[in-house]
Amino acid sequence: MNMIAFSIELCQFSLELSKDMGKYLFQSLKCILVKNIFPVLWDKNQMNMHLKDAVPTCSDFKILFHKLDYITGQWYNQYMIIRKAYKFRLKTNSEIEGLLFQYSGCNRFVWNRSLALQKESLDKEKKVLPYGHLAACLVRWKKDDASFLKTAPSQTLQQTLKFLDRALKDAFDKKQPNKRFPVFKKKYKCVDSFRCPQGFKIEGNRISLPKIGWVRFYNSRQTLGTPKNVTVSRRGKHWFISIQTEQNVVVPERPVFNPHADIIGIDMGLKRFLTRSDGEYIEPLNSFKKLENKLARAQKLLARKKKFSCNWKKQKQKISRLHIKIADARNDFLQKHSTIMSKNHAVIVAEDLTIDNMTESAKGTMKNPGKNVKKKSDLNKSILDQGWSAFLRMLGYKQKWSGGIFHQVDPAYTSRTCPECDHVSDNRKTQALFECIECGYTANADHVAAINIKAKGIKELGGGTHRISLRRDGDSHPLSQKPTTLGNQALYLAP
Ligand SMILES: [Zn+2]
Repeated sequence: MNMIAFSIELCQFSLELSKDMGKYLFQSLKCILVKNIFPVLWDKNQMNMHLKDAVPTCSDFKILFHKLDYITGQWYNQYMIIRKAYKFRLKTNSEIEGLLFQYSGCNRFVWNRSLALQKESLDKEKKVLPYGHLAACLVRWKKDDASFLKTAPSQTLQQTLKFLDRALKDAFDKKQPNKRFPVFKKKYKCVDSFRCPQGFKIEGNRISLPKIGWVRFYNSRQTLGTPKNVTVSRRGKHWFISIQTEQNVVVPERPVFNPHADIIGIDMGLKRFLTRSDGEYIEPLNSFKKLENKLARAQKLLARKKKFSCNWKKQKQKISRLHIKIADARNDFLQKHSTIMSKNHAVIVAEDLTIDNMTESAKGTMKNPGKNVKKKSDLNKSILDQGWSAFLRMLGYKQKWSGGIFHQVDPAYTSRTCPECDHVSDNRKTQALFECIECGYTANADHVAAINIKAKGIKELGGGTHRISLRRDGDSHPLSQKPTTLGNQALYLAP
């Protein structure tokens, strides 16, 4: 049986519609389109087709669309969800701040108490308690000894339980070896925060939070997408909201590119933050080093003060301001340079340094204490300071958003191979200079590494003599059928 569905206005295209179809287009059309065509046919004035009920009885059907407006010619592209967080400072008064502190405290209490329960259960060699069990406990606590929890919005407390659930699952996940077992949250040490998964409203420069009401904020930039949740947190003496949004966008398409012209290799180093294969480089910011002495002095002063005294709290605030200053400067530096890189290059190739492991390994374990711990830990401090992993992560998502490719290659031999004669040896006489013992080629060592990284990238991405298509993963597109035109209207005919 054949069935034909028309869509007059395709105002909102569903994400799943064109995703994961691949070569199983015929089969997937049955299950995917039926599910998702429904929200597509949403213009109530035009057609009201109850596909949801009608289609499961069909074994085979065809879908026709026409007049696709702004996405004409692009509908067969892949769609992706972009999740972004927008952070704004809240305009609080002492009354609101009191409530925020109180709710954060309630959430901390719920976290610590449920973590204690989980630990108890694990100590008895039982399984991790499921979320449902803890949610029931939460209800009981409110009735019994912790009636103060009633003051906080209950969904934020449930959200905290979900966070703990996630943290425990991650901790036992073998695929995420860097995740640690969650720890108890200490007052003054942990970040005061809580998340509202629902029950908030945003209007212009004010937000309504559950059990708090309208609070104004410094609306410094436009938020795009549908707000999904709001996280309230404190940094220093200011409170912030972070609005997480979701957007459905067409994966941007870029034309076929020339692997030699549009590709760039980058090498991250200590002397130079980043060296590009074309020879240009970026100096490191080292925000930490500049403020390090200041921080060390402030920390020494803190140690002399009586804990939790007035002066101690003051000094603590000073230190937290210094930390914020360092973090802001670093974040700004990384964001700026990753945006410039991503805007100007279709393909970026970097080393896969798995930096998390590098920073872990210096100390070693009790059985296997690391060698050169001091030297390595200085290197680690620099790595963390420069924020390499954050930078690579930023490049990853920015390339994805702009339709480019970010590729990471194995770092083996990148700094020891001569780009002129391919001779591999310990050519590196000093940290900064590369000199080939075979052909005598000399260049800056970081530049050589960047050239080798680029070459590796071209090889792995299937470049070289070929030209690569920039579509996702270099695959040919699942729905490559071109639209046929009928008069002014485009007709898309899925098989
Ligand atoms: Zn050579």
